[in-house]
Amino acid sequence: MQSISILGSTGSIGLSAVKVIKTFPDKFKIYGLACNSNLSLLSKQISEFKPAVAAIGDKSAAATDFVKKLIKENRETEFLFGNEGIIELASRKTDMVISSISGSAGLRPSIAALDGCKRLALANKETLVMAGDIFTKLTIKKGVELIPVDSEHSAVFSLLSNLKKEEVEQIILTASGGSLKDYPAEDLKDVTPEIALKHPTWNMGSKITIDSATLMNKGLEVIEAHHLFNFSYDNIKAVIHPESIIHSMVETIDGAVYAHMGKTDMVFPILNALTYPAKIKNPFGRIDFTEIGSLNFRKYDSNKFPALDLCYYAGRTGGNMPAVLNGANETAVYSFLEKKIRFTDIIDIVEKTINSIDVINNPDIKDIFESDCEAKNIALSFIKMKQ
Ligand code: NDP
Ligand code: MG
Repeated sequence: MQSISILGSTGSIGLSAVKVIKTFPDKFKIYGLACNSNLSLLSKQISEFKPAVAAIGDKSAAATDFVKKLIKENRETEFLFGNEGIIELASRKTDMVISSISGSAGLRPSIAALDGCKRLALANKETLVMAGDIFTKLTIKKGVELIPVDSEHSAVFSLLSNLKKEEVEQIILTASGGSLKDYPAEDLKDVTPEIALKHPTWNMGSKITIDSATLMNKGLEVIEAHHLFNFSYDNIKAVIHPESIIHSMVETIDGAVYAHMGKTDMVFPILNALTYPAKIKNPFGRIDFTEIGSLNFRKYDSNKFPALDLCYYAGRTGGNMPAVLNGANETAVYSFLEKKIRFTDIIDIVEKTINSIDVINNPDIKDIFESDCEAKNIALSFIKMKQ
């Protein structure tokens, strides 16, 4: 029986993780659950799974009648609060931690998890985008297995485990193209959050859905792949594949291309991260190729969607720049969701923020957090100018 903590159990990935764990009660047991403020969903998860620990990021929740009642009714569960509470849970001894808090808030818990778990199933791509060099070194030092959950990286991870690294020429990440891939370029400035949030193939949290619409998500994934698989940016490509059936591809030096296919459901990469290297039979459905009919591919339009090129630039520059890019993007995306800026302002603000902050080569973790903070503040000042 493997004990697991899910950081971000109330989110889109968290719910898929819960579904996987529930499907295999003889293999997995929940040790800890963590969320920020979705108390009604967390309370349902607590009564169903009776975790040893529940951590609530929103400190003020501790004083509410709802939480006082929750504590009374669940005496066997230890309750922790605030960022410190999340960190404390993350670092507790378990077999596995699923790191699926959204955004930059996931970095500290991912780092803390390396103190207590044997395997880290990493969904929070921001961990590697912000601090890839530091984090990958730390996983090796602490002897923790790092297994990607992001579907493209899960696919590449599986493909590479059957190939010799020196025989692999390049990684090709597939991108659905997001909700706006066919939207006329001249109308993008008028896109509302409601339109941008309608993802054609994946059902995900709002931040990553907007990132898919700008193609920032694919750019963040290029940086994530660079750190996970130790490939240079020149050997990591992205291609639009609207059906999202091929989750990514690997090309070997002889020109052969290996594609990893599967249903568009995160339960598959999550299950893989929990059971790797074993494969286990599951009831999560199968692809019916006769229903799909055809698979399509096309180049991304970098004039219409400049985010991907910006990510290559930040990734190649290295140091604190990916953290700056990520922090500025996070702030801009939430401002767009609050209807404070236009869709096309998002990447404009990210680019301006990158150009306003000095590069720090070989940053330490303190530099990374400071750069994240600085980027968010500068992005906010650009957002104010747009209002
Ligand atoms: P969601 O927005 O659906 O969920 C986010 C989760 O994180 C929620 O449980 C939320 O709690 C929790 N959370 C957010 N901020 C904090 C905080 N400060 N402290 C504690 N908990 C916090 O996001 P997703 O599940 O879509 O994405 C999670 C991560 O996985 C992201 O990094 C994303 O890039 C990555 N990912 C997601 C995929 C997907 O299919 N959704 C695919 C590949 C990667 P609460 O509900 O209480 O707010
Ligand atoms: Mg992905």
